[in-house]
Amino acid sequence: MLARNEPARHRGQTLLDRAQQFAALMFDAAADTDERAVIGDHLWAEFRRCGLAMSPFPADLGGDGLCRPERSGELCAVLRRLGSADLSIARLFEGHVNAVSLVDRYGDRDQLRALAERIAAGGLSAVWGANDAKGLHVDGERGGTLQGRKILCSGAGFVTDPLVTATAPDGQVLCLLRLTMDETTDLSGWRAQGMRSTATGAIDLSGIVVTLANMIGRPGDFMRQPFFSGGAWRFCAAHVGATERLVELFRTHLLTMKRGEDPFQLQRLAQAVASAKTARYWVEEAARRLAIDEIDAARVVGYANLTRMVTERCALDVMEIVQRGVGLTSFIRPHPIERVSRDLATYLRQPVPDLAMSDGARAFLTSPHAVGDF
Ligand SMILES: Cc1cc2nc3c(=O)[nH]c(=O)nc-3n(C[C@H](O)[C@H](O)[C@H](O)COP(=O)(O)OP(=O)(O)OC[C@H]3O[C@@H](n4cnc5c(N)ncnc54)[C@H](O)[C@@H]3O)c2cc1C
Repeated sequence: MLARNEPARHRGQTLLDRAQQFAALMFDAAADTDERAVIGDHLWAEFRRCGLAMSPFPADLGGDGLCRPERSGELCAVLRRLGSADLSIARLFEGHVNAVSLVDRYGDRDQLRALAERIAAGGLSAVWGANDAKGLHVDGERGGTLQGRKILCSGAGFVTDPLVTATAPDGQVLCLLRLTMDETTDLSGWRAQGMRSTATGAIDLSGIVVTLANMIGRPGDFMRQPFFSGGAWRFCAAHVGATERLVELFRTHLLTMKRGEDPFQLQRLAQAVASAKTARYWVEEAARRLAIDEIDAARVVGYANLTRMVTERCALDVMEIVQRGVGLTSFIRPHPIERVSRDLATYLRQPVPDLAMSDGARAFLTSPHAVGDF
């Protein structure tokens, strides 16, 4: 029997099974991917073959409906598995899912169908929101000519259909672009410690003409709550996956070196397991709350903001525990602990963490709920 929303070509395997198999391939290739700072063609081919590229689209457009609220638990599990294998690919997948979700929520059916056709034909999407001092502008909220560039664009040079934010006379708009791949891309600044193969760079989009067909939703939709801040659980899920991988690598190290009975190491292991599971529970709950479409948007956002803080703290704690427990080996390439820690430390840097934390605290401060119900 086919699993729910499962295309016939994946007969007998759930999306999670397929993501798990792809993750194993990603992990085997991860040292090479990191060394070359390039995701191999065989990984992209498998990414498509196993259905992850199309997975966020609804079933009638060839996907698994993964970006629908009722599938958020499964999306969380997929992101954890990918994050556990290679955070760079997990980050690109997260951006792709976010873009499809935004088109699904704010765009019209024709726009979603057109994007699905482009992705089925080999495309990839992303959300490019970060700006330099000048930003990206468009003449009118119903279309016009783009002027400016986007920075910190993951997948610069191979993302074909990015969703970009731009400033229009009536506010911030979302434009779904079809790149020709002739645009000027600058990856020279991406000399990051980790996440090397995300190809995160700047792209000049000046001169691209956008019409109504490219404009997704209404001005202000991108930052509409609770979805804007509430969706942070997705990158947190990828962080949790990498944190869990570090705990597994630590356990393997202790068993292999026969150091597992040492009381100090056992204490470290206990703390590492507790931190990884704490982060996972928070992220799963943040995903669940956004999915159930709670009336109290402020509480959903507040919880998501606190989840960011918890996930970051737990990841940093696990990195320190594992590095101290394994020692120098964990700093020497190509040991996977070295790579995973480097990627995780880099990807943990997300926008305005202080503001997220303090907004989370403020939401509780002014909430009528007891802490147990917040
Ligand atoms: C691997 C990777 C891939 C990425 N890909 C994309 C992408 O595809 N698309 C995209 O749009 N972005 C992307 N980004 C960028 C990302 O969305 C964030 O913009 C970026 O990570 C922010 O990092 P930051 O540490 O500079 O943040 P900041 O927000 O500058 O935070 C740095 C510190 O400054 C503090 N701070 C921030 N603002 C203030 C203030 N006004 N006053 C005082 N303190 C302040 C913060 O709390 C924090 O302590 C990517 C980032 C990474 C790491």
